[in-house]
Amino acid sequence: MTVQLMPEIKPSAKMSPDQRGCRFCGQPLEHLVVDLGMSPLCQSQVEREDLNKPELFYPLRAYVCDRCWLVQVHEHVGGDDIFSHYAYFSSYSDSWLRHAAEYVEMITERLQLNADSHVVELASNDGYLLKHFVAKQIPCLGVEPAGNVAQVAKEQGIPVEVSFFGVETAKRLAAEGKRADLMLANNCLAHVPDLNDFVGGMKLLLASGGVLTVEYPHLLNIIEQNQFDTIYQEHYCYHSLLTLEKVFAHHGMKIFDVEEIPTHGGSLRIYVGHQEDAAKPVTAAVVEMRQREIDRGLTDLATFEAFAERVKETKWKLLEFLIEARRQGKRVVGYGAPGKGNTMLNYCGIREDLLDFTVDRNPFKQNSYLVGSRIPVYPPEAIDQMKPDYVLILPWNLRDEIVNQLSHIRRWGGQFVVAIPELEIC
Ligand SMILES: [Zn+2]
Repeated sequence: MTVQLMPEIKPSAKMSPDQRGCRFCGQPLEHLVVDLGMSPLCQSQVEREDLNKPELFYPLRAYVCDRCWLVQVHEHVGGDDIFSHYAYFSSYSDSWLRHAAEYVEMITERLQLNADSHVVELASNDGYLLKHFVAKQIPCLGVEPAGNVAQVAKEQGIPVEVSFFGVETAKRLAAEGKRADLMLANNCLAHVPDLNDFVGGMKLLLASGGVLTVEYPHLLNIIEQNQFDTIYQEHYCYHSLLTLEKVFAHHGMKIFDVEEIPTHGGSLRIYVGHQEDAAKPVTAAVVEMRQREIDRGLTDLATFEAFAERVKETKWKLLEFLIEARRQGKRVVGYGAPGKGNTMLNYCGIREDLLDFTVDRNPFKQNSYLVGSRIPVYPPEAIDQMKPDYVLILPWNLRDEIVNQLSHIRRWGGQFVVAIPELEIC
């Protein structure tokens, strides 16, 4: 008897159904980078009273544009839904706070900022960074869409404009005389649904001769270090230097300097000025980084295809470890409840049968449940009570910090596990 096979499903069936095309250049998106299955919004949580309710899952697929090489996911949910009550508070990571303090010292010196300068931070969160400018009596303003985190900043005396940033907000602030000598945007570019409106706003609000610094996880590291779990619905885009050069040029600006920084698994800090600002020549570092991205394949579809294979392998290895640990009667818990943890757990299909619970220092996340996986989130003390054999570090970018904080688990023979870039027990 011959078995009638299903008609072959062609790769084109997974072509982008989104007719709007690339978020920057409008080119139709035809190249799937990775398919992470169905996923709920990663930066939300399930409360106890909602445990009997359904959750919305969306296809989580990243595409790359073959004209400008922007890597992006589809927008299923608008920024309003995501960010109006955001649970991410910058101040719950010690290493991030240190990073912010060091940045303020460095940039104040480099740009000679003083009481006559004006600093604007986009996505100023809970004021983790601007408080250092307030302490130096350098006038500043935060722009933050999430009212609940903005409130925390305001209570510390930091001026905050609660709104989404874009051309409209920039025009209003500029009309109020709030142009920025220094504008900064740390780890928010990925969250921007309308990239052209956001960068267009930056152009309007940056003072003549002003400097914009932008920090973002470097696409080159996401690809080469297998950091696929940074892909989630709330992260619309994943950036290289060469693509952002095109984006800023389109809006009359130029990237004139770049630095590599260790945050978030390897980020870039770019320095941007107005295109016509002759006092800011493009440095050799920019030319070198652009060439490195080309040499390492960020303008080659084969690079993205190889990445997709590594992602599958990571899932299989993590599942093998967790299942084997269970079979041996070991107890495994998580540490942290970051958005990337939800991508990982949902993509791998990990539930409470493989991971008892996770913990988080942020009280807003404690005693709730992770989206999709419904794994409970407890305060960190739960680890001391249970004394697990393994602690799976979900925010692997904070690995060193967490291993230090939890070094006492060694006393009962506990070990740490990370899944990215590769499964490692340490
Ligand atoms: Zn494009």
